[in-house]
Amino acid sequence: MTDAADVLILGGGVIGLTTAWFAAEAGARVTLVDQGDLGQQASWAGAGILAPADLAHARTPYERLHAQSIALYPDLSQKLREQTGIDNGYRVCGGLELFLDSGETSSDEWRGEGVACREYKRDELHRLYPYLAPSVERALFLPGMAQVRNPRHLQALKAACAALGVRAITHCPVQRLIRSGNRIEAVETSQGRLTAERYLVAAGAWSEALLQPLGFRPGIRPIRGQIALLNLGASAAWPLLLRGKRYLVPRGDGRILVGSTEEDAGFVPQTTASSIADLLTFATSLVSELARAEVERCWAGLRPGSPDGKPFLGVVPGVDNLFVAAGHFRAGLQLSPATALLMKELLLGEKPTIALDDFRLDRPTLPPA
Ligand SMILES: Cc1cc2nc3c(=O)[nH]c(=O)nc-3n(C[C@H](O)[C@H](O)[C@H](O)COP(=O)(O)OP(=O)(O)OC[C@H]3O[C@@H](n4cnc5c(N)ncnc54)[C@H](O)[C@@H]3O)c2cc1C
Repeated sequence: MTDAADVLILGGGVIGLTTAWFAAEAGARVTLVDQGDLGQQASWAGAGILAPADLAHARTPYERLHAQSIALYPDLSQKLREQTGIDNGYRVCGGLELFLDSGETSSDEWRGEGVACREYKRDELHRLYPYLAPSVERALFLPGMAQVRNPRHLQALKAACAALGVRAITHCPVQRLIRSGNRIEAVETSQGRLTAERYLVAAGAWSEALLQPLGFRPGIRPIRGQIALLNLGASAAWPLLLRGKRYLVPRGDGRILVGSTEEDAGFVPQTTASSIADLLTFATSLVSELARAEVERCWAGLRPGSPDGKPFLGVVPGVDNLFVAAGHFRAGLQLSPATALLMKELLLGEKPTIALDDFRLDRPTLPPA
């Protein structure tokens, strides 16, 4: 198999697809290769929560990556709709961080990050949100909390890439990268060799296996998350409800996502009875009305976990034409616009707009928890 791409992207999740779109828009000839279909793994399985952020208050490169992504979402969503006719479901729906008793402390993190928020005490909270269980004592309202519908977003990205001539090769696992000195000269796939000027590893939880033979063990590993999709039948114009690492995401059409677990279960994307039961108990304990909702579907996805929770972004040290964008853990949808912008800049030889030192592949990281 021959290929004349400027850029070959290994992995067609939200990170690979968004980067392919940006690079193709900038004029690059892009090929995307995936071991399955595009946009079917973690990016499809995620809840699409986009936590608010304020660029003016962003202090660290990670906060800038987050804030820049959030700032890009509205225009990016509109552009996708104009280019493809697909509405990705982006909307600012607000969120409530819930606390069950007055002893629970709300973090001041949001205020420190310049994010608008307002505390509701018990009486006001239950007057405004009468469906919340009496056990909810107070809440922090985050008006800027937003969401995107992952499958629609991915459909739109695929269509936008196709319209710009991005070549997609699916059901074609990349087996290894072939290095010659300080360059990658080809990748070996199940369908033969593919070549390009520059390569990007964006293979999510599977990225470690592609990087290891080159001498890198960043510690990217699959962290399973399960979700139950409920259907109330009638639209629920609720804000997102958040409690610790679990949440309810009302989609606005009667569907409500209940997520999620965090499990170190290897590459096994299956749901389990106990985790789904826990999620359903969690949901009905916050909103008793959900007990009558239909359980429409349950699924699991493999987040690309990294030892310190931050992604690995940038050039692979010692290999001039190989880049990585992987390990986005719980925030890959949220961080995808700015990640793709950075990757487009690197792949096209432009100066990156965010300092990349914190995201280096060879940074000292904490041992896995
Ligand atoms: C239950 C759950 C809830 C989540 N909720 C949120 C949320 O609310 N907000 C948020 O921002 N993020 C959320 N996330 C995290 C987010 O989904 C991920 O961080 C993000 O999808 C990672 O995108 P990716 O493109 O790196 O990986 P993936 O979407 O997994 O894509 C990687 C791609 O690489 C391909 N691939 C792998 N190996 C090879 C190979 N050897 N050759 C060719 N192709 C290969 C795979 O087939 C796949 O298509 C959630 C995740 C889960 C599972």
